Amino acid sequence: MGEKKKKIVKTIKVDADKCNGCRACEVICSAFHATPKYSSNNPARSRIRVIRDPLRDVYVPVYAGEYTPAECAGRDKYTIDGKEYEECAFCRASCPSRDLFKEPDSGLPLKCDMCESDPDLEEPLCVQWCLNDALIYEEREEEVEEEEPKEEMEIGLEALANKYGLDKIMETVARMSESKKV
Ligand code: SF4
Ligand code: SF4
Repeated sequence: MGEKKKKIVKTIKVDADKCNGCRACEVICSAFHATPKYSSNNPARSRIRVIRDPLRDVYVPVYAGEYTPAECAGRDKYTIDGKEYEECAFCRASCPSRDLFKEPDSGLPLKCDMCESDPDLEEPLCVQWCLNDALIYEEREEEVEEEEPKEEMEIGLEALANKYGLDKIMETVARMSESKKV
C-alpha cells in the first residue's frame, strides 16, 4: 500500500447557460499554445471548443479530454430544457469520428493541460477571458494514495501492449529469444 499524500484537484465548472458563444476562450487557448507563445491564434488548435448553434441559442464549451483510438459503437443525443443538443456534443474525447481536438497540421490529439500549470497564471486563461463567467475555476485539496512509480520499461511495454495487444508482444519476444539461442 502506498502512502497518503495531498493532491490539488483543479476544476473548471462550466455553466453552459451563461455562454454566449463569443469564442474568446478558444482564441486565448490556441494563442497560449502557439509556438512561439501568442504568435498566432487558430481555434482548431484550442483545447476548449464551443459547440455552437446560434439560431437555437445552443452553446456548449467542451474541454479536450482523453484520446481514444476507436469511436463509440453508438451515439448519444441529449435534450435539456427543450433544447436538443447534437450527437456527442458533451463528449471530451479526441476521437476518429470528428475533427475536434486534433492538431490541424500533425493530426495529433489535443488535451487541456490547464495552461501547462503555468505558475504565473492566477487562473487558467480561458477562465480569465470568459467575461460571462461561464467558466469558473476552483481548486480543492484531496488525500490520495501515492502510487508506486512505474519502471520506464513497464511504461513502454504498456504502450506497446495497448497498440499491438499482449499476445503479439509475447509472440515477438518468444521469436526473438529463439533467434538468440541459435
Ligand atoms: S485551461 Fe488552459 S489549456 Fe485548458 S482549455 Fe483553458 S486555456 Fe486551454
Ligand atoms: S469565452 Fe465564455 S462565453 Fe465566450 S465562448 Fe468561451 S465559454 Fe462561452
